[in-house]
Amino acid sequence: MAGLVALLAGVLGLAFGSFANVVIHRVPEGRSVARPPSACPRCGTEIRPRDNIPVVSWLLLRGRCRDCGAPISPRYPVVELVCGALFAGTAWWLASADPPDWWALPAMGLFVWMLLVVTVIDYETRRIPNALTYPLTPALAVLLVVAALANGEPGRIVDVLIGGAGAFAFLLVLALINPRGMGMGDVKYAAFLGLGLGYVGLGAVVIGIFGAFLIGSVISIGLIVTRLRGRKDMIPFGPFLSIGALLALLFGSQIADAYLSAVGLA
Ligand SMILES: [Zn+2]
Repeated sequence: MAGLVALLAGVLGLAFGSFANVVIHRVPEGRSVARPPSACPRCGTEIRPRDNIPVVSWLLLRGRCRDCGAPISPRYPVVELVCGALFAGTAWWLASADPPDWWALPAMGLFVWMLLVVTVIDYETRRIPNALTYPLTPALAVLLVVAALANGEPGRIVDVLIGGAGAFAFLLVLALINPRGMGMGDVKYAAFLGLGLGYVGLGAVVIGIFGAFLIGSVISIGLIVTRLRGRKDMIPFGPFLSIGALLALLFGSQIADAYLSAVGLA
């Protein structure tokens, strides 16, 4: 059963990955994601439905526009594949929980979709658009509250709200202390992540945020030591927040158990 659900979620994830490409491409430029339909950036020909099948079309066209032969970036199928894998993995995780948490599927689908979209946009533009965090943070909160109520676990709503407010407040303090190290986009994104991880548990919120700083520090030091980046270069923090959140989501309870047994508390 969990395998079937994961397979279906994976296929759905490819389609949402295709939409993620549109969002990644257009939202930083302030353009509508609904209109006009996707077109080749060189010759302007609208993409036909048969050439818009995730991953498959890119492979069949060998990464080129059907009309003018302009190369299509491999980023498009990669984003689709990653989104498919994220959806499949999340569905597998929720379906194999005991008892399975079907109600959380929409919320967690939105959660991992956002991780992917923000990571690519922040990496490319060094910004996390309000056009994403403003509508999708309350949307995630509503989906999580619905899941908690449908599962008969209203207490989880408190963890969701504490997680969101706590992560927001923590990063806000850091951003006020060191405005060059962190932007308000990161602070608002942390609220979104705190909500989603709060549903898993407050331990997952701590692991997600702490993990982001740990991974961010290690990679930043690595980039400076190998001279790929200078000491003064701005390294976007959003991707690290996303990686920390994903690790906390999928392995949070194992990490917490390992930590508690290591310090002799369990
Ligand atoms: Zn073309």
